[in-house]
Amino acid sequence: MASEPSSTAPPLPSNFLRGIIERDLEAGTWAGRRWGGSPGDAAHHAAGAPDPARIRTRFPPEPNGYLHIGHAKSICLNFGLAQQYGGVCHLRFDDTNPEREEQEYVDAIVEAVRWLGFDWQAQGHSHLYYASDYFDFMYRAAEALVQAGLAYVDEQTPEQMHATRGDFHTPGTASPFRDRTPAENLARLREMRDGRLADGAAVLRARIDMASPNLNLRDPTLYRIKRAVHHATGERWCIYPMYTYAHPIEDALERITHSICTLEFEDQRPFYDWLLERLAELGLLAHPLPRQYEFGRLNLSHVVTSKRRLRELVAEGHVQGWDDPRMPTIFGLRRRGYTPASLRAMADGSGASKTNIWLDHAVLEGCLRADLEGQAPRAMAVLEPLRLVLTNWAEVWGSDAHIEPCQAPVHPQRPELGQRAFGLGRELWIEREDFAAEPPKGYFRLYPPRTQPDGRLLPGNRVRLKYGLVVECTGFECDAAGTVTQVLARVVPDTRSGTPGADAVKVKGTLTWVGVHDAVAATVNLYDRLFTEAQPEAGGRDWRTVLNPHSHRVASAWVEPALAAAAREDRFQFERHGYFVADRQTHAPGRPVFNRITTLRDGRAA
Ligand code: ATP
Ligand code: MG
Repeated sequence: MASEPSSTAPPLPSNFLRGIIERDLEAGTWAGRRWGGSPGDAAHHAAGAPDPARIRTRFPPEPNGYLHIGHAKSICLNFGLAQQYGGVCHLRFDDTNPEREEQEYVDAIVEAVRWLGFDWQAQGHSHLYYASDYFDFMYRAAEALVQAGLAYVDEQTPEQMHATRGDFHTPGTASPFRDRTPAENLARLREMRDGRLADGAAVLRARIDMASPNLNLRDPTLYRIKRAVHHATGERWCIYPMYTYAHPIEDALERITHSICTLEFEDQRPFYDWLLERLAELGLLAHPLPRQYEFGRLNLSHVVTSKRRLRELVAEGHVQGWDDPRMPTIFGLRRRGYTPASLRAMADGSGASKTNIWLDHAVLEGCLRADLEGQAPRAMAVLEPLRLVLTNWAEVWGSDAHIEPCQAPVHPQRPELGQRAFGLGRELWIEREDFAAEPPKGYFRLYPPRTQPDGRLLPGNRVRLKYGLVVECTGFECDAAGTVTQVLARVVPDTRSGTPGADAVKVKGTLTWVGVHDAVAATVNLYDRLFTEAQPEAGGRDWRTVLNPHSHRVASAWVEPALAAAAREDRFQFERHGYFVADRQTHAPGRPVFNRITTLRDGRAA
């Protein structure tokens, strides 16, 4: 998909990958490539046309869990670079491990990538691929390596293999099976494939260098025997390629130019290149071959971002599911109310570098505010309601039942969005914190009349009810436990907002409110950080010890009548409270449920 870069967009932060691509494009590194119209081997591509894509990148998730914010970063990076440079980005399911993969995850990943705003249609083709479609080629390549003396079947036990691998200071020692002839190895490999050996009885290993300083080149394993039902190929195979063998081949078959991965794969790059070079020499793959580039992982503060940890959070019941609004999964962030644009801005803003980065949660929240500030409709909501009674209502309006119609802009800077309407009546809901029986110093909200030490009576405080009028506190009522049950006030005449002279009465406080007669009851989920520490696992700590017990609170709120019509995933700015979204699971018309995405400002900033 192509989008015009906006001329007002701020310059993108440093991203060394752009530099590499620009140099490649200038040097014509990828210019001669041919593309056979679909993934394939050297002959398939040689028969194709010059590749219309200037570069090819890919996002290669393993469908073994839900995607998280780190994956969002990788999606935005890979699809974003392809967009910027006239390329194509493939969505590839790296489904070579039969044990942990499920269709449910495949579907969820497709949905997440789409939701983020990307797709894999280009030049009339869908570039959605499955690594398991390449099993035949991978096996053919394995036989070719065996025949060339570049791979052998090792029948040592896993323990023996581990013990003979050596370590950083000691070279490994050769397996007794290392020097079998290609013909013997080929026969043995076919027995592996045909199910004549037990699980774990043998592996296929590359024959490279047992003394290499890079341990990944000490005859790495290419294939293992594993009887398992694969989600796509069923029981067709009982041997499966290792990730380190499969991944470079997947990239090459798809004619990927820039294979971007995270830093932990840096040590694998020599093997990546070794394998592809050998297969090109054997005529199976076409030059120019893909190149691997590593960038730093993205971690988000106050959460854990690895599929394994997320699985534990769900399994142990610390959260309510994969899409719990506190989870850093893409579905969790979506349900929390984050917009695709805010996540893309987070990804672009964090660039790409050679070190792992910890992104402060506040940065993500800042991206959301920047996105919603200019577009979210405004509304008033009272999250901790306290009843306010205007005792002189009938005197002012002729009847206690009078409802004074009020209006407020849907968005203060966007008059074209029109006005919202609600009524001001004798009884209102205000925030409990907007009244103090004994006001602390500097408190500008409602407080009752007080007697001075010299006996003088000071009147109660005056505030403006936003879009309404000025009221003066006259008293309050409590229950037996001393809890305030309602606040009493009187309307100050001639202060109706929008009428001449309404500002003559000066007040220091303006309160948000909703009318008891027309407010809609709403459940509001208030979220806080899932962990009390920025890096929950720092120093090897058990993350369970730093879970925030107050990360979710439910409030029974009253909201403006217009919100009764909100649809799931509609987002609003509740004045003074922050940004909220109608929950995509539990919200229903007439029974609204809102999640707080974030407050209006970063309350934690020093
Ligand atoms: P996890 O470690 O959370 O299980 P993974 O790396 O095993 O994640 P994959 O499905 O293999 O998950 O990842 C798909 C792509 O997303 C890979 O290219 C990987 O490098 C990238 N990716 C995963 N986590 C991050 C992260 N935290 N930051 C940036 N990219 C990431
Ligand atoms: Mg992985």
